[in-house]
Amino acid sequence: MNFSRSLVFLLTVTLLPWASLAFAVPVAAPSVVVITIDTLRADHLGCYGYKQIRTPNIDALAAESARFARAYTAVPVTLPSHTVMFTGTYPMSNGMHDFAANKLGSTQPTLASVLKDHGYATAAVIGSAVLDSRFGLNRGFDFYYDHFDFNRLQESNLEEMERPGNLVTDVTLDWLGKNYRKKFFLWMHLYDPHYPYHPPAPYDAEYKERPYDGEIAFADQQVGRLIRFLKSKGLFANTLIVLSGDHGESLGEHGEKSHGFFIYNATMHVPFIVHLPGARSPRVMPDLISLADLMPTVLQALKIEVPPQVQGRNLLPLIKGKEQDEARSLYGETFLPRLHFNWSELRGIETANYHFIEAPKPELYDLAKDPGETQNLYGEKKAVAEEMRARLAALIRQYSAGQELAEKTGLDPALMERLKSLGYAGFSGGAPPTITDRALPDPKDRIEVYELVSEAIAESQHGEYAASTAKLELVLKSDPDSVPVHYLLGVNYYRMREYPKAVEQLQRVLQLSPEYSLAVYELGLAYGHAGNWDQAIQTLKRALELDSTNFSAARNLGAAYLQKKMVPEAAAAFRQSIAIAPEYAPGHRALGEVLLYEGLVDDALTELRRAAELEPQDPDNHVALARALAAKGLNGEAQAEMRKAQQVPPR
Ligand SMILES: [Zn+2]
Repeated sequence: MNFSRSLVFLLTVTLLPWASLAFAVPVAAPSVVVITIDTLRADHLGCYGYKQIRTPNIDALAAESARFARAYTAVPVTLPSHTVMFTGTYPMSNGMHDFAANKLGSTQPTLASVLKDHGYATAAVIGSAVLDSRFGLNRGFDFYYDHFDFNRLQESNLEEMERPGNLVTDVTLDWLGKNYRKKFFLWMHLYDPHYPYHPPAPYDAEYKERPYDGEIAFADQQVGRLIRFLKSKGLFANTLIVLSGDHGESLGEHGEKSHGFFIYNATMHVPFIVHLPGARSPRVMPDLISLADLMPTVLQALKIEVPPQVQGRNLLPLIKGKEQDEARSLYGETFLPRLHFNWSELRGIETANYHFIEAPKPELYDLAKDPGETQNLYGEKKAVAEEMRARLAALIRQYSAGQELAEKTGLDPALMERLKSLGYAGFSGGAPPTITDRALPDPKDRIEVYELVSEAIAESQHGEYAASTAKLELVLKSDPDSVPVHYLLGVNYYRMREYPKAVEQLQRVLQLSPEYSLAVYELGLAYGHAGNWDQAIQTLKRALELDSTNFSAARNLGAAYLQKKMVPEAAAAFRQSIAIAPEYAPGHRALGEVLLYEGLVDDALTELRRAAELEPQDPDNHVALARALAAKGLNGEAQAEMRKAQQVPPR
């Protein structure tokens, strides 16, 4: 060993965080487990004082951990809330306000990317399609188990968009079984308490009257399986475990059934439990904390430098009792009313005593006297409200430094359709506005309309178009210019194959919101079904101008050209669809069929082989390939493809 290397070695040993206490016994770096339970109200867990549920596993974890009594999300929506947790940043910085056509910025560090850089094996197992890797939270994970097959989803089996907690845990334990000898970072996401509430046996019977609680009890059982595994392998003591909610559930409070529309504490308050390696004694922390604190706390506990972009705080000084933080104010927002309905967004600030909500009609609540936030004190306590408003403005300035980092995804239109059925996808598709417009309707005055539209969406997704359409028509009486309502009516009529009515509604949408690209796309499809091919071509071209990533618009444009016998134009449009999305099987097949028609058999074979390779479960791909093979004189292969087409199990 030469001198310089031995010096480096010595320095490394001296600087090791455990060096002072671990000269004799080397301590392995702790592993990290983050468990997020979706839609989990803190006050529905035993350890948070709820008496009507049995959550023995989470309660036992809390009994060996620091439990935060007052933890809050910054956004009551799944994807932006998890983005806050895993980037340590607020939406004004990370750009993820909502679900509408956003993807996490590719340069933003995440907890997973930092830990991976520090040699951790990283894995995530996800319970809902709303956290699919196409939204970007997979970055930094070696293993990201989403695998939601959007293409195979029928409208009647939307539940498949969820993966039940027992399956999430099966995959988690399978990965852990192969990787627990390494230092690892694991994120397990349990989606079960999210609506609809259908707990499996025995929780369905035990919680017959309160199925939401039944889902939580079921999730608790899954947490128990994971903790038992860690204990059985002797890993528990040296694993940093965080258990957190992503947002609560309003359960009818303030007229809201689920979450996302308001920012009251029914949906902002979440459980947050931190088990530090080696720690045993339970602590209950009274301090206000944000989910943005998760990432810096984990990194500091591992003595890893926190990236400079991170806006959350390290909670270790609080947990170790070295500090108290009574003066903290927390930021919260929802842009759902603005992005989906063009009603005002809501932005708020919470302190130890008060919750102020900026809205066309502002709100102020005294949290000690009125934890349910039912008495608006804004008129009575003007001075307090003004001070809170000034603090809110300061926080917005502080967190908004620099440009928002999210990228437009150009989400698959079919995916957008399906996400909407879960009450997520945005209607506007535009960038979130950041200036409060007081002339916009106050969400408080629109909650009934919102709930009615939500029911109409659910009915439409279950094929109950008449009931859905009746509700939407009712909404038009009070909101005649509602863009989403006209849009949803257009979609309903389209599904009922009443194409002229669909065209009428979608045209109205575009009068009100001319750049609404998804509506332009749907209108183009409706024109096509109505047999109006010239209009279909013109409109689908416009859809592509507005959203150059809409590969489905390009393929349908090609199909419209074919109807007009404009073959070269059709081929160009199909080429465009696969240039946008190289793994889009329907684009390859359409191009292959046109090439075959033109007599370019070899080129056709290339495309059709690709289509069959990408989507072997679609028998039409094998049939099309068989035709091209036969044209080439490859009859044996052609027959083999025909057999494959017949062997595909029916969907
Ligand atoms: Zn959620």
